[in-house]
Amino acid sequence: MHEPFRNEPFTDFSLAENVSAFRAALEKVQAQCGGTFPHVIQGEEEHSDQHFPSVNPADPQEIVGHFSDGDASVADRAIDAASTAFEEWQYTPVAERAEYLFQAAAEMRRRKHEFSATMVLEVGKNWAEADGDTAEAIDFLEYYARQMLRIADSSDQLVEYEGENNSLYYIPLGVGAVIPPWNFPNAIACGMTAAALVAGNTVVIKPAEQSPWIAYKICELFWQQGLPAGVLNYITGPGEVVGARMVEHPETRFVVFTGSREVGTEIYAKTANVEEGQRWLKRAILEMGGKDAILVDETADLAAAAEGIVTSAFGFQGQKCSACSRAIIVEQVYDEVQRLVLEKSQVLLMGAPEKGNEITVGPVVDRDALRKISGYLEIGRSEGELLLGGNAADADEEGYFVEPTIFGRVDGNARIAQEEIFGPVLALVPTKDFDEGLAIVNSTEYGLTGALYSQDPARLKRARREFHVGNLYFNRKCTGALVGLQPFGGFNMSGTDSKAGGPDYLLLFTQAKSIAERLPA
Ligand code: NAD
Repeated sequence: MHEPFRNEPFTDFSLAENVSAFRAALEKVQAQCGGTFPHVIQGEEEHSDQHFPSVNPADPQEIVGHFSDGDASVADRAIDAASTAFEEWQYTPVAERAEYLFQAAAEMRRRKHEFSATMVLEVGKNWAEADGDTAEAIDFLEYYARQMLRIADSSDQLVEYEGENNSLYYIPLGVGAVIPPWNFPNAIACGMTAAALVAGNTVVIKPAEQSPWIAYKICELFWQQGLPAGVLNYITGPGEVVGARMVEHPETRFVVFTGSREVGTEIYAKTANVEEGQRWLKRAILEMGGKDAILVDETADLAAAAEGIVTSAFGFQGQKCSACSRAIIVEQVYDEVQRLVLEKSQVLLMGAPEKGNEITVGPVVDRDALRKISGYLEIGRSEGELLLGGNAADADEEGYFVEPTIFGRVDGNARIAQEEIFGPVLALVPTKDFDEGLAIVNSTEYGLTGALYSQDPARLKRARREFHVGNLYFNRKCTGALVGLQPFGGFNMSGTDSKAGGPDYLLLFTQAKSIAERLPA
């Protein structure tokens, strides 16, 4: 019997022993850098002739690993392997499947700092953000294992009927294409994989090109627990080639994707096609972008609101789907909130996160991100008043750094207030009053997270109904959802509202089978 689920605690970096343990992990991971990694299909390593580098975004000359550059045929082989493995894996008892997750969680907990340090180097997370990412990965393993044990046999949820024995089982779907993003490279990759596996599906995972190393470590963790060959296959390469083939393959039964709106909607359309030889309707579990807002009214605790805005806007350089990129502030308190937000943002320290825990702002993930964000810095200059930052490095030698940037007095319909930027860029949007502010909140095509700072009970009540996002927070930041506490997923163009880390999530990876048996009279 397992203990009730509890969230993994975060590491306290004010303690010297934790700082030195994390430094030691960084050194260990730095010494591992530069390896060459294969695809792993049916438990066999497959090296490709071509490789692509995964680099440290704070120092792009530093290659953390070389990864096999796959093509469509690699995806075909991996899906064939997963398809064969499904024949047995689907009948593996649920308790046994759950045990793989419990064991993987225990092992990841033992190597916690190593997993976090890998993210510091591969995607430029600061220590606390990396630690939170690993804690969330452990949470997903622990939580989904328990949830699957709970839902697998749901017969006790049915009503009694005399003379009949009725049962309801949640059985697996088949081969899952797992396509994660780079921004929560441990938590999301691990969570989506764990959910698919514990529900009895087999998996082909193709990590984002920016974070293949951490994904390899996750897979290794599962393989080391003795997962049968072919149940979890790892392949790498360009999303538009390898990922696209995984989505199109007729043996793929479902796609679980987290990433941009652009790719997500493309996958949505493709999964609707019935390919030749396909015997099912593919399921698409899609989590996409956000344009998340924090609304502050004149009754709010303004210092707390400013703190929430700054943390939500600049945590992991604004590269969270939940990041606050619009602060909508009632005019009466606008100047004071702007002053406080600036004061709190000016003390952020930018640098290479491997240097130490005092670094709060690291690099953005790659050159493409740098270019895209730089474009928005230009747009912002014409749409608002530049209050802070506004500069980005322009050479690979410098690392992909973008200063935390704030534009003041931006119109709610401006591009920087409507489009997902995915970088450390915050628009402050003044609004006449709460009513108008709520309308601005709901004016984008997204609906992922949001927060309201207000002390007015009637407004909080109204926001419960009318602030249209999948994850709504009152008087706290709009990032940092915890597994089991705040099931995570968005509305509208933010995705299919799959609610990762919630009690319904695993149902998406299963199909329900009802069995009725007439009993002898
Ligand atoms: P992305 O869409 O560029 O890539 C995501 C994944 O899709 C990667 O593995 C990529 O290789 C793959 N891919 C790319 N083209 C593909 C194609 N044609 N077919 C199949 N796969 C393809 O996104 P990203 O830059 O990795 O991540 C950032 C985005 O993710 C942001 O928009 C962010 O808001 C979103 N995100 C959403 C959530 C959420 O829970 N809603 C969480 C994290 C990130």
